Amino acid sequence: MAYQTTNPYTNEVVKTYADATPEYVEESLAKAQALYKKWRNDPVATRIPVLRKLAQLFRDETDSLAKVLTIDMGKLFVEAQGEVLLCAQIAEYYADHAEEFLQPRTINTIAGDAQIEDHPLGVLMAVEPWNFPYYQMMRIFAPNFAVGDPIVFKHAAITPASALAFEDAVRRAGAPDGALTNLFLSYDQVSQVVADKRVQGVALTGSERGGVAVAEVAGKYLKKNTMELGGTDAFIVAHDANMADVTAIAPRARLYNAGQVCTSSKRFIVTENNYDELLAALKDAFSSVKMGDPMDPATTLAPMNSKKAKEHLQAQVDMALDGGATAYYVHEPIDDEGQFFMPTILTDITKDNPAYGKEMFGPVAQVYKVKDDAEAVALANDSDYGLGGIVFAGSAEYGAELASQVETGMVFVNTFFSSLPELEFGGVKKSGFGRELGQTGISSFVNQELVVKRERPNENEFGGLVLPHKF
Ligand code: NAP
Repeated sequence: MAYQTTNPYTNEVVKTYADATPEYVEESLAKAQALYKKWRNDPVATRIPVLRKLAQLFRDETDSLAKVLTIDMGKLFVEAQGEVLLCAQIAEYYADHAEEFLQPRTINTIAGDAQIEDHPLGVLMAVEPWNFPYYQMMRIFAPNFAVGDPIVFKHAAITPASALAFEDAVRRAGAPDGALTNLFLSYDQVSQVVADKRVQGVALTGSERGGVAVAEVAGKYLKKNTMELGGTDAFIVAHDANMADVTAIAPRARLYNAGQVCTSSKRFIVTENNYDELLAALKDAFSSVKMGDPMDPATTLAPMNSKKAKEHLQAQVDMALDGGATAYYVHEPIDDEGQFFMPTILTDITKDNPAYGKEMFGPVAQVYKVKDDAEAVALANDSDYGLGGIVFAGSAEYGAELASQVETGMVFVNTFFSSLPELEFGGVKKSGFGRELGQTGISSFVNQELVVKRERPNENEFGGLVLPHKF
């Protein structure tokens, strides 16, 4: 396993890191477990100041933190700055709300005074992807730190500097030793950590392939897990959509982060009356991108994260074309050694095309023409995935009606997709299970312990499963 930063714009190998030794893994788990035992008795309030400090640190050091992302995986510096600031918002959100979310809840029952108390579950193993190296970490770190679950994590092999920068920021914010530990693990070591009896939960964000592998091990060892996986999100343009809004948003919904977003609009499903207009607008935007140095504010499309990712996407596009798709538009090649993928628009992808239903993780738009809105919804649902989605329609109400027919985890109507701390994030079908962010996101790895108390047993009031006999 080679953890290595290779700048995808310059192709320079910036730094290579050694894998974690078995001794370091053991030491990290032992520290995390000891901290869990301590945190079990510490109120949530004791951890809140660290989250506030972490938020402040992400605000104060936005540019230096953002630069690490750009060098690790190539994203535009301006997008990296946005990611850093979103991390600050997430840390602040849980600093503001964790105590309220984790308050005991009273239950009305004849059994006695009953309440659900939220306790930490134990040490968690997180496995995270390269596309938003800090944001993905903050989604799992901030809520679970507030709960009191220490985390060991494996970040993507291509973003080791981001992993270390995040771990360092958490440490500098005052988190105790063992609260968050980066481990440069091989896949086998990930399985060993998941199997370790001190680990009680597993959170993975990544591809279906990675999700299946890690969920299988989590299942084998009965570890609670959340899976945030890929998608083929639909962007539905209903017959009465406001096309000025559609054409302003559609290209951004595909090209943001060089198209490498789980919730990027990957399939544009357009009613026939709007088809030509959408295609023309996409072509206009795709042909006017400026590829170049991601640190340059004038650049509008970044390179892809790696040569491997670029080659994989090219193979998928070739497969689509061999299967009968039409390349409606392909950006002319540019003279640059960076891992740039030429923005591409594919049409005429039929159901028998081997590329149909595949997640294309880069600046490639698939555009589908449909007769009417019902057909648009049916095509949107003809997917193994169900992560996000966008619907543009003549009114918010009608758009919401269509949105609720889409089998997916999140839908935005008449606006762009955005991730914010208070909005629950997650999918259905092969896009995974569980939710991160929002109130639900803090309860994924909580022991919701039921405590029923009374001064003495009450023999006159009982029901349910109780001992029928006196001995
Ligand atoms: P990936 O290959 O699954 O990698 C994600 C993480 O899983 C990496 O840390 C990777 O390590 C690790 N991993 C992969 N296979 C593993 C195995 N067998 N055992 C242990 N760890 C394993 O995903 P990706 O292709 O880099 O990321 C893009 C995918 O993530 C897309 O499908 C995207 O839609 C999805 N995604 C989903 C969300 C969401 O919230 N639903 C958010 C962002 C991205 P290595 O780097 O060492 O391979």
